Amino acid sequence: DVTISHLSKKFAATTVLHGIDLTIRDGEFFTLLGPSGCGKSTTLSCVAGLERPTTGSIAVGDRTMVDTASRTFVPPEGRNLGMVFQSYALWPHMTVAQNLALPLRIRKVDRRRQTALIGEALEKVGLADMRDRYPHQLSGGQQQRVALARALVYSPTVLLLDEPLSNLDAQLREQARAWLKRLQEDLGITTVYVTHDQEEALALSDRIAVMSEGHLVQVGSPTEIYQEPATAGVAAFVGRCN
Ligand code: ATP
Ligand code: MG
Repeated sequence: DVTISHLSKKFAATTVLHGIDLTIRDGEFFTLLGPSGCGKSTTLSCVAGLERPTTGSIAVGDRTMVDTASRTFVPPEGRNLGMVFQSYALWPHMTVAQNLALPLRIRKVDRRRQTALIGEALEKVGLADMRDRYPHQLSGGQQQRVALARALVYSPTVLLLDEPLSNLDAQLREQARAWLKRLQEDLGITTVYVTHDQEEALALSDRIAVMSEGHLVQVGSPTEIYQEPATAGVAAFVGRCN
């Protein structure tokens, strides 16, 4: 499980996360859903280790990744989490294979094993024959699959995805959504997904946490969120009032 306890985050004088408590279960596709600015990416960045909480703790399994009380902090590269963030594009001057090799080189994986792992990861995303292409020789959807392969290449325990489909047009996006869901089910990898798209959240998730202004407003299955919204705000956001 990923256990988030009393997670708060301030930027200067502004509190953007107000004591988040949340447990994400092993193998689950879990989505943080909410409007722009509600704190989704900040929450994910704290799990990834890219931001430090102001107070609180985060554990993955029995490993404490960060705990402000005991001053524990495991840096991102020590957490074994796969990340696809919208802003973390592929390196344009490197081929697909070279892009995938980089996280392996950081982890000091030897050359032959690198080749094998890169092949396996590209296989998973259905792009085995594209290893020598450069990013500009791929479609947007293919680039996002390569970014996903790069996140999967070192067999992370948890996959963190921050709006990974947002660069795609509506049609590609729907295809990519179905494909992502299948991949996640096949791999059975615990996935924390961030989106402000309620349809995407309802279609993909085992459970959803609806966020508003740095608070969790409701956590539940897509059916619960849609059929029994806890507040008028949730109801409006998931489209019941439209
Ligand atoms: P979006 O859907 O637009 O991506 P979000 O839910 O991911 O929104 P966050 O990026 O977590 O929102 O931001 C939450 C709040 O924290 C926002 O008000 C944002 O301006 C602020 N914030 C985020 N990062 C920083 C930072 N590094 N310094 C100062 N304020 C920040
Ligand atoms: Mg965001």
